[in-house]
Amino acid sequence: MRYISTRGDQTERRFCEILLEGLAPDGGLYLPKAYPRVSGITMARWATLSYPELAYEILRLYIDDIPADDLRDIIGRTYTREAFGTDEITPVRQIEEGLYVQALSNGPTLAFKDMAMQLLGNLFEYELARRNDQLDILGATSGDTGSAAEYAMRGKPHVRVFMLSPHGRMSPFQQAQMFSLPDANIHNIAIEGVFDDCQDIVKAVSADLEFKRRHRIGTVNSINWARLLAQVVYYFAGYFRVTQGRGGKVSFAVPSGNFGNVCAGHVARMMGLPIARLVVATNENDVLDEFFRTGTYRARSAAETHETSSPSMDISKASNFERYVFDLVNRDGAHVAELFGSAVEGDGGFTVSPEEFDRIALTGFTSGRSTHADRLAMIRYAWEQDHDMIDPHTADGLKVAREHMQPGVPMIVLETALPAKFASTIEEALGRQPPRPVSLEGIEALPKRFVVMPVDVQRVKDYIRENSPA
Ligand SMILES: *Cc1c(COP(=O)(O)O)cnc(C)c1O
Repeated sequence: MRYISTRGDQTERRFCEILLEGLAPDGGLYLPKAYPRVSGITMARWATLSYPELAYEILRLYIDDIPADDLRDIIGRTYTREAFGTDEITPVRQIEEGLYVQALSNGPTLAFKDMAMQLLGNLFEYELARRNDQLDILGATSGDTGSAAEYAMRGKPHVRVFMLSPHGRMSPFQQAQMFSLPDANIHNIAIEGVFDDCQDIVKAVSADLEFKRRHRIGTVNSINWARLLAQVVYYFAGYFRVTQGRGGKVSFAVPSGNFGNVCAGHVARMMGLPIARLVVATNENDVLDEFFRTGTYRARSAAETHETSSPSMDISKASNFERYVFDLVNRDGAHVAELFGSAVEGDGGFTVSPEEFDRIALTGFTSGRSTHADRLAMIRYAWEQDHDMIDPHTADGLKVAREHMQPGVPMIVLETALPAKFASTIEEALGRQPPRPVSLEGIEALPKRFVVMPVDVQRVKDYIRENSPA
């Protein structure tokens, strides 16, 4: 398997070459040169595999520069009952006739990002050890991504994490989750500013190429191909669970922000998984819903980005969306470079041609949006059905899923977080507190490790220099 850029650079790279990279040199994202197709015979064989076995079968189609035994070992160490709570890893439950919820949120930080990040941690450590190299991961977080990255990288000898977060702006639970990690390779830097300030510091540090090279600065953001690949697996797992060997099609409803999760569904569909609809669910930040309804993609400014009660979907532009558009325009890299290079970075958007717009239906995509009131209504609805407690992001998915059901086609809503992470919205909807996994009882009382800094690029650089072996 070889990988190319979405913006026309045809240089072919192998998996481990792009593993530690962010963007391709031409500013595009990496995608496989062609999607491997899965035959009916293979599907039948996969239907009864355990989650790690299934993950191995899928990943080995995309990774041919890690020996088979090593890859199997990495996957086996990642998807365990200890880390994800059950042997199924992503258990599926029924909400009502034809409507299911697939739990992607039982990992160490209670959000679906663990599904990919836990694997990424083990792949990074493997590849860095093989190269005898080190990596400093620099990131900015307002919650989920940062903690998933820290829990994935903790204790890894070849990796250090420097995670910036807006001082005093994360929930007490989120702060406790991140700041209570005792591992020496994890560095929490609370910036006296907002999330955008943190993001700007990361950009400024990364723009200093000499510093970046010396410290081997890397990222773990959602455009990383390995993260997306890890997510392809649970679409297959959910399909097999719900169809129980009967075949037929299913649909997925996906609470979406940066388009990473649902883009993995697109890849699964391109491989031949019988997906009828991929339903993109947004909150009030409806960049994606607008595109799928109108064909116009208009990135929002920070001022136009709403703070909502499903905060992990509060995005102004969807960083993985370019991958889908590449396929939508029949992999015309020059066209994508125009759309995302000059159009998005220039005027902030573009409109696809009528022919391209018509092709969206062929890719299975459809969409909808949800509001705070919808979220509360859906949390109550699931609770009244079955005493099933869902988090606000999953509630967005459920709301939009119910608008796109088709007779005879099971609909699977992807559960992207546990309600325990968003107690105040649950309290508002149900008048009760969500239960918390035993392992996280009382984490607010644990000692916290973090340093506070002003919005000052130099201070952050100095801190990295002092705490990194380079
Ligand atoms: C990150 C996240 C999302 C959005 O996923 P994307 O891959 O960015 O579309 C949805 N829900 C939760 C809980 C998340 O953490």
